[in-house]
Amino acid sequence: MFDLKKHVKARSIDEAIALLIENPGARLIAGGTDILIKLRHGKQGFSELVDIHDLPQLRFIKLDENNDILIGSGAVFNDIIESGIIQTHIPMLKDAAQSVGGPQIRNVATIGGNICNGVTSADSASSLFALDAVLEIRGRKTKRNIPVSDFYFGPGRVDLKKGEILTNIRISQKNYKGSSGFYYKYAMRNAMDIATIGCAVSLKTKNHVLEDYRIAFGVAGPVPMRCKITEETMRNKKVSRKLLQDISQAVEKDVNPRTSWRATKEFRMNIIKELCVRATKEALKRAGEEI
Ligand SMILES: Cc1cc2nc3c(=O)[nH]c(=O)nc-3n(C[C@H](O)[C@H](O)[C@H](O)COP(=O)(O)OP(=O)(O)OC[C@H]3O[C@@H](n4cnc5c(N)ncnc54)[C@H](O)[C@@H]3O)c2cc1C
Repeated sequence: MFDLKKHVKARSIDEAIALLIENPGARLIAGGTDILIKLRHGKQGFSELVDIHDLPQLRFIKLDENNDILIGSGAVFNDIIESGIIQTHIPMLKDAAQSVGGPQIRNVATIGGNICNGVTSADSASSLFALDAVLEIRGRKTKRNIPVSDFYFGPGRVDLKKGEILTNIRISQKNYKGSSGFYYKYAMRNAMDIATIGCAVSLKTKNHVLEDYRIAFGVAGPVPMRCKITEETMRNKKVSRKLLQDISQAVEKDVNPRTSWRATKEFRMNIIKELCVRATKEALKRAGEEI
């Protein structure tokens, strides 16, 4: 049973912020695919919802005057899959969106909810980490921008203060132009399952050399993470089979998976070492490289 005492629909971002301040115990609901499960479990002690589902000011995907990509927090995964901007510039995020849940979930679940829920398995998170995405957050009288890599404090804990809303996600042109990427999800089954491990790779090559290499994982630690040691070691290396082996060895130094009922630490480590190779290979293919 849902112990729901109050449900208020906001008609604007300002109204949503005002409602959150008026009702300090309330939580935001966007698609509801995470928050309604928490409400039903009843463990987090909230029973009031401020509804931002389908708010037009939050549901968009566009390029700004600098060709930065802006994704409204209320964009659902199907919006991302169908967006020409995403397909053209950051197909890796389309890979991630396609891997979420099933068709019904992708129709209502938002990218903002995916990030603000604060879990390491969020499929959109690794791609956003690899793209150095910036989160634009609004409060009653405040606006702040925070790199997605600084947003996660720990499992289920993110940098959102009372009355704040994630309005949109910004991906700067410098972080996607000329880059090719791929997101690879390993789960026990192909649909309706959260990631055992998710891996996003974004890279740039020049004359068959890795000019830029970024790799991020979900579920390789308590929060999504970039693999900085691997990235630094691989930059300026020649594209080759040996490179893939080196990546697979290097990631061990960056990650910290744990054992859960879903998979053991050792199994996850094996998957990590394989997924980084597969995601890199696919990203290289998109960059026109052959191995
Ligand atoms: C059957 C099923 C399958 C699933 N499969 C996957 C999967 O494969 N991969 C995956 O990553 N996830 C999966 N999920 C989890 C979920 O669908 C996603 O995390 C989804 O993106 C959450 O978005 P939402 O809009 O439903 O968020 P909601 O449930 O509405 O909100 C989630 C949290 O974010 C907060 N929030 C929402 N929007 C904002 C905002 N704009 N600003 C600040 N806070 C906000 C809410 O208060 C809440 O705490 C699945 C869920 C279900 C039920």
